[in-house]
Amino acid sequence: MSWSFSIGRFGATTVRVHVTFFLLLAWIGVSAWQRGGANAAAISVLFIILIFACVVLHEFGHILTARRFGIETPDVTLLPIGGVARISRMPEKPAQELAVAVAGPMVNVVIAFFLFLILGTIEPDALSRVDDPQISFVARLAAANIFLVIFNMIPAFPMDGGRVLHALLAMKLGRARATQIAALLGQALAFAFGFFGLVSGNPILIFIAIFVYVAAAGEAQISALDEAAQGLSVGDVMETHFNAIPVEASLADAIETLLATAQHEFPVVDAFGKPAGFLVRDDILTALKDHDRKASITTFMRAPGETVRPDAPLAKILERLRGPRAQPVAVTDAEGVLVGLLTRQTLAELMMIKLMRPDWRLHRG
Ligand SMILES: [Zn+2]
Repeated sequence: MSWSFSIGRFGATTVRVHVTFFLLLAWIGVSAWQRGGANAAAISVLFIILIFACVVLHEFGHILTARRFGIETPDVTLLPIGGVARISRMPEKPAQELAVAVAGPMVNVVIAFFLFLILGTIEPDALSRVDDPQISFVARLAAANIFLVIFNMIPAFPMDGGRVLHALLAMKLGRARATQIAALLGQALAFAFGFFGLVSGNPILIFIAIFVYVAAAGEAQISALDEAAQGLSVGDVMETHFNAIPVEASLADAIETLLATAQHEFPVVDAFGKPAGFLVRDDILTALKDHDRKASITTFMRAPGETVRPDAPLAKILERLRGPRAQPVAVTDAEGVLVGLLTRQTLAELMMIKLMRPDWRLHRG
């Protein structure tokens, strides 16, 4: 269970709200009620909802720009800390990455601009007193948007400023070096936030520090893998020595193969050698509970998933192999015959080779 539910769909993107967001609303509402009664509670809750509407618009700044470059975003989730858009990948061209990163904060600049137009004045004072009910609602909303821009432009992943920095560095130094520097700076900033958080006793700073540190580390790992895959095809790294299980096999045959090999993931092939399904070790072991020896593996195997050709760029397939439960990808030739496998293990080995010898050539044939 993901603890979030859909509130609507815009284009190809589902907008989801996490349950903890309602806890935030409830908390804001109750504390405002205690201070100023029902009216104050309603205004405070409305204020938070409007800020989060601005956050969603900010995310759609990223999403719509990414879509222009052919990159889809399946969903965006509202959390108490802000919006998280699951953009399927970042553009490889630094100029496009820069455009996607800047588009979010630009939305808040535009919103703030229009709110200041409505106000007729700019009150710099409001920025430091966003939670002061004495200041007009519109001024506070404008100030909140300015705050969103400043916060998001902190030059550290996962903030947009980290992306902007990465794109600018990549234009000068190439993606690999840019990722290293951006991730390093992100972690350094995380330590700085953590330090000031501890010294000033500010738990929010400490929270941001942890958040930034984890994101920078994760980003460095994902980008390093993307980088290692650049210029390689699926055929360059796929496993070619493996055991496949024939589709007419029984549970007993599957157990036999499991014991006889070091493999944990088995492609299932038909009489022509074409992929018909997948069996992983857990599937076979689970099947032992309620199937007998003669049971056909087709009753508990998984669907084969979308196949790829050996000449496909490796970088395009990485997304499918992310996550601890990712299924291997079957590689087939022009006739649809299984010729290779891409597994998480393959990627781990690729990373180890690139770590030892970044210049090592992996091209086959
Ligand atoms: Zn953003």
